[in-house]
This record gives sequence, C-alpha cells and structure tokens, in this order.
Amino acid sequence: MKAIGIFGGAFAPFHNGHLRVAIEARDKLDLNQVRLIPTAHAAHRPDSRISPLRRLEWLRLAVRREKNLIPDDREIQRAGVSYTVDTLSELRQDFPRAALVLIMGSDAFEHFHTWSRWQQIIDLAHVAVITRPGSEPRPSAETREILAGRRAPDAAALHRQAGGLWLPLEMPLLDISSTRIRRLLKQERSVRALVPDAILNAMTAADVAALTQDNDATQH
Ligand code: ATP
Repeated sequence: MKAIGIFGGAFAPFHNGHLRVAIEARDKLDLNQVRLIPTAHAAHRPDSRISPLRRLEWLRLAVRREKNLIPDDREIQRAGVSYTVDTLSELRQDFPRAALVLIMGSDAFEHFHTWSRWQQIIDLAHVAVITRPGSEPRPSAETREILAGRRAPDAAALHRQAGGLWLPLEMPLLDISSTRIRRLLKQERSVRALVPDAILNAMTAADVAALTQDNDATQH
C-alpha cells in the first residue's frame, strides 16, 4: 500500500527543523512521499505578515532537490480557516487506497484534542508524533482515551491499513523554531544554517521586515 506523509505548518519561515522532520519521516517510515502543506489561515493564531504564496515559494525552494518531498498548496487554494480534518478529507478523496500519515510535533500532539473534529482525523489517517529519543509523547487524557489500543507496533504496520493508528517517531530534535528565526532577524543577527540557503538567498528586505512584525508564537 502506498504511504503518504502529511506535514503542515505556518512555515513562517520554513526552517531546517521542518526539513529534517520531513526527511526523517520519509526515510524512517518508508513513505512514498511527504506532502508539505503551508497553512493559509490557522485557527489558533494570527496570520503571518508573510503571505501564504511567499511561504509556499520558500518551501518550493527548500525542497527542490529533495526526493519525494512535495509542496502542496491545497490549504492556500481553499478559502477560509485551514482545518487539518478538511485537508485530510481532500487527500483521502485524491488517494482513496493510500495510507495517510499525519506528522506532527509533540507540542501539537499535546493540544491535539483542541483541533477541529480531531476524532475524525484519526479515522482518516495515522498520526506520527515527533519525539526526542528516550522521551514519550504526552497526549491529554481525552486523546489518550481515543488512541487507546491504537498504537502501531512498528512503522510497517502503518503500511497495512489506511489510517487509524499512531506511533512516536523518534528523532534528535534541532533546536530551531520559526519564532527563534524571527527573533534573530529582529536583532539583525544571522540565521544561516537554521534556514535552508535557498530561502536565505531569496529573502528580501521586505520579507525580513514582514517576518519581524509577526508576533511570537505561544509555544517554542
Ligand atoms: P513558530 O515558532 O512560529 O510556532 P514553528 O517553528 O513551531 O513555528 P510551525 O510552522 O508552527 O513551526 O510548525 C509546524 C510543525 O513543525 C509543528 O508540528 C511543530 O511542532 C513542528 N516543528 C517546528 N519546529 C520543529 C523542530 N525544530 N523539530 C521538530 N518539529 C518541529
């Protein structure tokens, strides 16, 4: 069965932490592709001053030479708030027989029960939770209840059914966040080696000005 990873975020900007997540998920879970999906309008935070199309352009530059990492603009094309459950429903229609694997950070997983129609998400897709080696994801009581008995024994199990399982995906985390990058830019300090060079080379003074006006996220 074909297995497709889905990794979404504001990507304001996309950084090397995001890139490593996509690469490690592709390789460790043996995914045929990972679709990277920039959010148009997030439900829980103000829109970035950087337009969705500009964030998509950066993403394209960053993964141009990466095999099977695919920028996906479906949330940008769709009007309104970008709900993951709607994105997964669309992907399920596009790929009726594939295993879908939603990749999320452990911070996102802790708040999973606050996502719109979150119980539907686990029926539409598997969930892979990025976890530091040696630590365990910490789902809320609500999430734990719904996920009870659904832990995949290994990555191969994700390829045997279309969705409905979850598993921790261990990887050494890079201490990088878009918030940190925006802060460094604000202080006129270098962000080299945190952001892919292809993005840095394309970043204009206007981009930097817009990024530095974005509010700090509550997490990271
Ligand atoms: P911000 O600092 O603006 O919140 P961010 O760096 O967390 O941004 P997002 O675009 O909000 O990036 O995140 C998309 C996804 O990437 C989330 O699931 C988040 O947990 C995950 N993520 C972000 N940075 C890292 C990292 N360094 N390692 C692993 N996962 C990450």
